[in-house]
Amino acid sequence: MCQHRDDTIRVDEKILDALIISSNLKPEDLTGLKQKTATPLSVPDFKPDTMIGEGEPTKDEIEYREALLDLLRKLYDKINKIIFTDKDPSKKVDSIDKPVQSFIKDGQKLVDKHIPQIWNDGIDDGIRTLEKIDKDNEYDPDKIDTFKLELILLQQKLNIRKIGLNLRGRIEQHILIKAIQQHKKQSTSEQKSIIKANPTSNWTECMRELHKIEPDLTEDELRDWCSDYVGAWGEAQGNTDKAGMFGWVEAHKEAILGALILGIITMDRTLVADWVTAGDDRVCSDCLKLEANSPYNVDEWPEEPHFGCRCEQENVRTK
Ligand SMILES: [Zn+2]
Ligand SMILES: [Zn+2]
Repeated sequence: MCQHRDDTIRVDEKILDALIISSNLKPEDLTGLKQKTATPLSVPDFKPDTMIGEGEPTKDEIEYREALLDLLRKLYDKINKIIFTDKDPSKKVDSIDKPVQSFIKDGQKLVDKHIPQIWNDGIDDGIRTLEKIDKDNEYDPDKIDTFKLELILLQQKLNIRKIGLNLRGRIEQHILIKAIQQHKKQSTSEQKSIIKANPTSNWTECMRELHKIEPDLTEDELRDWCSDYVGAWGEAQGNTDKAGMFGWVEAHKEAILGALILGIITMDRTLVADWVTAGDDRVCSDCLKLEANSPYNVDEWPEEPHFGCRCEQENVRTK
């Protein structure tokens, strides 16, 4: 993996523990970081993170990722309306299913709308390249194998479903945990009456909303619950954004390769191309090595070494 962030590092507790175990760092070296992750998370902004991966996303890629994240934002608003009401926990669990299912359905519709568009752009790019190399041949886009497109569509749809179902699972847990906490309190109500929480300016919106329906929770309990709840949305946002980026970049790359392979068959000649990186400071050493070892035969094109690789085939020519 080669993802660099200039200023902030976002890590959750589990990743952090794994980092401590796998490096020579002592836990105390990372105390500062741990404190940072322990503070309540702010509400996700539901906007694409343009700093993930190598190179810059195109306007169309951003539009796709924005559209997916917009659905997640709508789901967030709907679920909040269910969560922060004084309903019975089992009713809340029941009523979050419908909006989650619409998120999955609408997200999958977006996949069907956007991914074939970028696939077709890739096919056009590939055919234009072929026409420059050999004008005498005709390249019929209908002869390009769409197996990879089908796979990417399926992968994107399964990702959306997984994100929706994971989120539903985490929210269900949140509803139930809160109900259990509440139940415990009722049985020991005398002891808890001393530490009732009072809203302050440091409270997040989630804490205020939760306090309205659960006035007996302490400030720490409110903060913990909200931090986890908002964290579940943060995780869903990150996964949605990354899935969208992956599908987009992959569809474009695979379509160009598919068109070039049609060229090899049509011209009956071997085509080679250079591996060209995005050329910014997020490009990793693996990709630089691949670039240095160019060219490669188009029909034996190397696998991209990691998620977020925006390297492309350039200078396509006959061997
Ligand atoms: Zn790389
Ligand atoms: Zn790369």
